Amino acid sequence: MKRRAFLAATAATAAATMSGCTREMIEGKKGPAVSRRKKVTLKIATSWPAHFPIMGTGVEWFAQEVKKLSGGTLIVKVYPKNILVPALAVFDAASGGQIDGFHSGPYYWKGKNPAFALFSGLPLGMNATELVCWMEYGGGYMLWRELYARYNLYPFMGGNTGVQMGGWFRKPIKSLADLKGLKMRIPGLGGEVMARLGVNPILLPAGEIYTALERGTIDATEWVGPALDISMGFYKVAPYYYTGWHEPGSVLELTFNKARFDRLCEEHKAIIATTAKAMNTRMYHEFMDQNARALKQLQQKGIHVRHFPQTVTEAAKKAVAEVVAEQSKQSADFKRVYASMAEYYKLIRPWDDLSEGHYLQIR
Ligand code: CA
Repeated sequence: MKRRAFLAATAATAAATMSGCTREMIEGKKGPAVSRRKKVTLKIATSWPAHFPIMGTGVEWFAQEVKKLSGGTLIVKVYPKNILVPALAVFDAASGGQIDGFHSGPYYWKGKNPAFALFSGLPLGMNATELVCWMEYGGGYMLWRELYARYNLYPFMGGNTGVQMGGWFRKPIKSLADLKGLKMRIPGLGGEVMARLGVNPILLPAGEIYTALERGTIDATEWVGPALDISMGFYKVAPYYYTGWHEPGSVLELTFNKARFDRLCEEHKAIIATTAKAMNTRMYHEFMDQNARALKQLQQKGIHVRHFPQTVTEAAKKAVAEVVAEQSKQSADFKRVYASMAEYYKLIRPWDDLSEGHYLQIR
């Protein structure tokens, strides 16, 4: 072997060893590289119950596709909440390497860094499609990955709920005054905005919401949208169903332990990245389809679908600006991420309003 060829071969072997790929794979000599790889197993925990519709089943689909695309060399084992770790311990568990990754929502981790809430979206801000564009082309992913790297984590978008409904109310909301003193189960930035409108935001585990609503311990609750709300039964005790503003396109996440992800070979990384993108789109579309079907069923049950009065949404807009200003003062990361979002929103909104927005009005 000539010296140059020898050096190239040595470098290829070294790269192959480092990335976990075989030398044949790097050199592309022996048939499809995929089937020659050493089997790798990744343990992913979710924040959802087993086979949870759309979100849980979407991750199961991801695992199946990854197995097929890798010729069975990359196995993703999906664990529902509380099997390996509790639902909201997945971030720390993946960060520390007890699990290889997780499926959840970035707003759950705002206690670690207020900026993380923004990666889920902002009340009255960008919708699902605009958020994806910001992530991919507007610097969102770069910021998200930079901030998560501090926790040894590497995130992908892992689905989107689309516009979430504003929630179920026991009584109609005819004015801003009707919100004063209302007890509502609503988490995140939406809850902080509601608090400024006089609502008393309350956090409750999923299993306790219905009873609290039935007994009048709370007056209202938000959840997700028709597809997931219908099985919670809220319509039976709080039949006023308001349209959404507080979660305009909640980004879910498929996040990996960064060191573990970095050790994967390039083909496995590419399979994960491409399949995560497919899962992201797939989940969004499944939400759209299932929401449409469930809304029809709910309407047959005699619910009252309402929009909040304009006085409420205008007050909510002001409150969002206040919350953003306050959080930006407290956190340099929040300020930076928000600035990036705001700049991109200024770019994308005129086009989205002119194209999709106008079309939705006139069709
Ligand atoms: Ca929600």
